[in-house]
Amino acid sequence: MPPIIEVAIPVPLMRTFDYLCNQKVAAGVRVKVPFGTKKVIGIVINNKTKSAFKKLKSVDEILDKSPILDKSMLDFLFWAAKYYHHPIGEVLHSALPKNLRLGKQAIIKKTVSLPDKISQPDFKINPEQADAIKQISSKQGAYHGFLLHGVTGSGKTEVYLQITQKMLKKGKQVLVLVPEIGLTPQMISRFESRLKTKIVTIHSQRNETQKLDAYLLAKNGAAGVVLGTRSAIFAPMPNLGMIIIDEEHDGSFKQQSSFRYSARDLSFIRARQANVPLILGTATPSLETLKNVLDGKISRLKLTQRASGVSLPKISLIDMKTNVSGLLSAELIAKIRQYLDQSKQVMLFINRRGYAPIYFCKECGYKAMCGHCDSTMIYHQSINRLKCHHCGAEKMPPATCPDCTQSSLEALGYGTQRLEETLNSHFANTPIIRIDRDTTRQKKAFAQHLEQINKGEACIIIGTQMLAKGHDFANLAMVGILDTDAGLLSLDFRATERLAQLLIQVSGRAGRNTKQGEVVIQTRFCEHPIFNFVLSNRYTQFANNLLKQRMSSALPPFSHQALLCANSKNKQNAQDFLDEACALLKNITVETVEIWGPVASVIEKKSDYYYFNLYLQSGNRSALHQLLSTFGQHIESLKLKNKVRWYLDIDPIE
Ligand code: ADP
Ligand code: ZN
Repeated sequence: MPPIIEVAIPVPLMRTFDYLCNQKVAAGVRVKVPFGTKKVIGIVINNKTKSAFKKLKSVDEILDKSPILDKSMLDFLFWAAKYYHHPIGEVLHSALPKNLRLGKQAIIKKTVSLPDKISQPDFKINPEQADAIKQISSKQGAYHGFLLHGVTGSGKTEVYLQITQKMLKKGKQVLVLVPEIGLTPQMISRFESRLKTKIVTIHSQRNETQKLDAYLLAKNGAAGVVLGTRSAIFAPMPNLGMIIIDEEHDGSFKQQSSFRYSARDLSFIRARQANVPLILGTATPSLETLKNVLDGKISRLKLTQRASGVSLPKISLIDMKTNVSGLLSAELIAKIRQYLDQSKQVMLFINRRGYAPIYFCKECGYKAMCGHCDSTMIYHQSINRLKCHHCGAEKMPPATCPDCTQSSLEALGYGTQRLEETLNSHFANTPIIRIDRDTTRQKKAFAQHLEQINKGEACIIIGTQMLAKGHDFANLAMVGILDTDAGLLSLDFRATERLAQLLIQVSGRAGRNTKQGEVVIQTRFCEHPIFNFVLSNRYTQFANNLLKQRMSSALPPFSHQALLCANSKNKQNAQDFLDEACALLKNITVETVEIWGPVASVIEKKSDYYYFNLYLQSGNRSALHQLLSTFGQHIESLKLKNKVRWYLDIDPIE
């Protein structure tokens, strides 16, 4: 029998495939193999002498001389595939840059140059920063998890830079993960100007050639620092010395399609396997991380003061119950004027883009709905179109009501565009910079907006989620938060945790450098307990209260969840598939796992597909995973399996 190789192929099947090959091939090497009627790129995971299958096809081509995935990466990825119950072929593929997935050669086109000169900070680190650096340094070469819990502007990034410097001196590489919207040009240049090493960045704005180069420079050890968004957790780094996760509470570390992993959670495994320290930095730790601190699994390092010496902003509420005049209260308008008169910048936070979220008929109450989704269409005035923010469908707004034929249609509610229009009417001579997905679609647009803000001239900045984190605007004196109430009314058990994080992060943009800033929150629920804590910047106390509630209701992080989602154009099929799955799950006798559902998703129909969920929960993580792996072995028996699209989401956050 000629040698046989076992190959992982990117197909949604929980198995690998055997091929004949005239030579032994190292694990981690890419091969081109016939699969059905196609040729596909697979990754060798093993050499064998026997196969359980009779008629084996032969490998077409061996693509690499040496493994593209080394032993440690393979171990890491196998762990991830097992934990997320995801097919190994798809997991290995999603860890590779696209050009390697397509079978292109692993060759560096353009290497990154070393900086000519690096700058030194013009300040001395404070005692808390020094202590954090000392404690982290003492754990070099061993796994240890740290929460770097520092208020906004407390100099966490400075700690990252100094500790990274120490690692580089020892010839180590450092992996830094930041949220999607946190990897700004400002952040990248801060690293580049301070560290004498090659820094590669991995994020969505890079083209495929740049992504491949970054990957290979990490892999050959030339890059001292890899700075990237969630997928950078898969960057190969032979001399890995430390992992940093900045803004660890951020939802964007979770991949929400195909292979659904959490880069934050995987960073624990990677750090453990590589025997290196892990630093999770944030001003607003997730409840998962706080629980890890309480359980003694990671140590907390605190930075309690803003590095600039300026106090945290003064936060106050404006009661909107009595304010019926629209989105902006008279009080807030007066405050904005006061700061603009002092040549300061003001930021207004509203988490909805477009002009108005509802286009409706005053006579009969008709609302313009998307024909493909259970969702209203958002009015975009600049192009005079109704758009669906779920599926992207667009249409002209009707001139008369389709239901009652009256011409009494109007836009209701506020989005960023309408806020801009309203502000223009109040502050005609002030530049207004709107930053949302519509104004930053072009590649350089976001950077250009930031540049304009950084010039420091008085202006009003309108921002969505995109501006909540990480930005440091020197002349920004006041932040107004306009629409928080949806977060208070949501049924999602994580909604208040998220809202508290968002309020503190957004507030943290104000008055960072020279003078105490001010934050004003408009709400109709002034008496809600969340504000007690937010107003006095006591996030930790608030989070501890939430933890107690989660414990008493046995919700994560005190239990573990998984979600089986099915969707189909045929609503009945989606439901029936989950009923079948539910019966199968209930047949597998594992105690301590609760199963609920199937129930429709919050938005039941999206892009013509009906979404239903089955929830699994257990206080015992391994019981849950045992159940899921047995389920995985029997999934082929489900009759509707090929009639619906379905996926499993482990530790879901939505
Ligand atoms: P964080 O990452 O915690 O939000 P940064 O690291 O961005 O905070 O620090 C905020 C600002 O304070 C930056 O401009 C930084 O250069 C500056 N800074 C950091 N540490 C110190 C220090 N010890 N003394 C004075 N300024 C500092
Ligand atoms: Zn739609």
